[in-house]
Amino acid sequence: MQKDKAGQEIEAFGWIDRIRNLGGLVFVDLRDRTATLQIVIDPKDIPAAKELGLQDCILALGKVRERPGAQKNPKMTTGNVELEVSKIEVLGKSKVPPFVVESDVKANEDLRLRYRYLDLRREPMQQAIIFRHQIITAMREYLNKNDFIEIETPILTRSMPEGARDYLVPSRLYKGKFYALAQSPQMYKQLLMVAGFERYYQIARCMRDEDPRHDRQPEHTQIDMEMSFVDEEDVVTIAEGMFAHILKTVSNQELNTPFLRLTYKQVIERYGTDKPDLRFEMEIIDVKEIFKEKNFPPFKDKQEIRGLVIKDGGAISRKEFDTLNEQAKELGLAGIFWCKRDEKFSGSIAKLMDEDIAAELKLEKGDLLVISAGDDKVFSFLGSLRNDIATKLKLHKQGFEFLWVYDFPLFELDKETETYAPCHHIFSQPKQEDIKYLDTDPLKVHGRLYDLVCNGNELASGSIRNHNRQIQEKLFGIVKMDPTKYTMLLDALEYGAPPHGGIAPGIDRIVMVLAGLKSIREVIAFPKTTTAQGLMENIPDQVTPQQLKDLHIKTD
Ligand code: ASP
Repeated sequence: MQKDKAGQEIEAFGWIDRIRNLGGLVFVDLRDRTATLQIVIDPKDIPAAKELGLQDCILALGKVRERPGAQKNPKMTTGNVELEVSKIEVLGKSKVPPFVVESDVKANEDLRLRYRYLDLRREPMQQAIIFRHQIITAMREYLNKNDFIEIETPILTRSMPEGARDYLVPSRLYKGKFYALAQSPQMYKQLLMVAGFERYYQIARCMRDEDPRHDRQPEHTQIDMEMSFVDEEDVVTIAEGMFAHILKTVSNQELNTPFLRLTYKQVIERYGTDKPDLRFEMEIIDVKEIFKEKNFPPFKDKQEIRGLVIKDGGAISRKEFDTLNEQAKELGLAGIFWCKRDEKFSGSIAKLMDEDIAAELKLEKGDLLVISAGDDKVFSFLGSLRNDIATKLKLHKQGFEFLWVYDFPLFELDKETETYAPCHHIFSQPKQEDIKYLDTDPLKVHGRLYDLVCNGNELASGSIRNHNRQIQEKLFGIVKMDPTKYTMLLDALEYGAPPHGGIAPGIDRIVMVLAGLKSIREVIAFPKTTTAQGLMENIPDQVTPQQLKDLHIKTD
């Protein structure tokens, strides 16, 4: 509301964020979804003003007036005006809130989650949730324009583990039988392709009973999509177009497409992770050739000798080196070794260094070289060090660095159980040229898989699927999954299944990254804690013995 409203009589509905008594007048900050407005009440005319409390929901009637020059507040969108109140009505009285509802909240997260409806009144939360809505709207706009059809699929489905544990729902009508909550619409979207819908999408809730982890939720939301008669290029082009449209719509930013593409092998070797953050450089370098002749016992016979050149010699303290050394050894690596270049070389491998090596490594004055050696764990070790150092030295550039990672192995080996597991999920198609290894060496098989990564976050993953029953059955066999759980898909593949593929960008994470926030809980209206509890709902919780009896469940 601006000066042009001055003189108008208005009604303002909202919540009280702040109350100040000044010079016999009561000044109230009244906030609604759109803005905060200063209202001024004279308690001589309206005695109820004295009773007002923080977070009361009120209606204020009055005349808008321009604030005197010195009292204008350029930080507020309505800062040029105020409301001279003639009448107030308390619509909903608030108890004293358990924490101060303010942008820069001091309360801990548990308290905020317990009273989430109050937490959501805070401006940053309102902005995040509205931003989420704008992103979802842009997604829908783009997909509708590109001929996709929004179709809902069941949440209550059969237990079909897709990689995580299922949430099970006991049946009352069928003793001892269970539904499961969908881990994703994967099966159904493939069936929709068999059914001939050709381009499908859905804002889909995915429920997975996974072990608690930072930034993982028992339920998350994806923009799930699937297309028929496509290959990788088609899916990638649609996804890039969608992200370009989102950024243009929500923040008027142009996104450069096509995005960079790197293979799984390249990202692991260069960044030590399959979701690299490209907002800073500092790639992992291969120093094996340089150091293998040096007769340095810790490097002897090591499969990998890799390092990082850090452009700030003080980036790691002696104490931190000791901790890193222990961590490396726990991983079975040779430890961590370092050399700082000043006037001379110093550090644990200074004696291995000379000017030629420094020139080859582009190790300049003031730089620090760190090296570790051992098996391929060296990559993840240096990859996480790379991230930590970037955070410490604030190396992240502004903006969004998108990339596609592709050419993933189809399987990974679970070293504990000595069994194969799908790298993504079991419905991805093996690369044609690798099918020959399915029987002999599954780890050599690459999948038609692609992940979209932005600023160190996996935003989406997808694949071209198997539309051939025999191949799909063979894959189930390799990972020892029971094909009878997927009969509906296997059967459908025998009735003219089209080639198809898709992707499922994770909405929570996308909103978090685009909003520049650190936790997905900041962009979900009612999230669970990291330990999968709902503090507001007080869940999980017990149910009555009768409810259990109805469901044929005995607990001890
Ligand atoms: N359903 C997959 C997932 O949730 C995504 C996909 O392959 O489209 O990860």
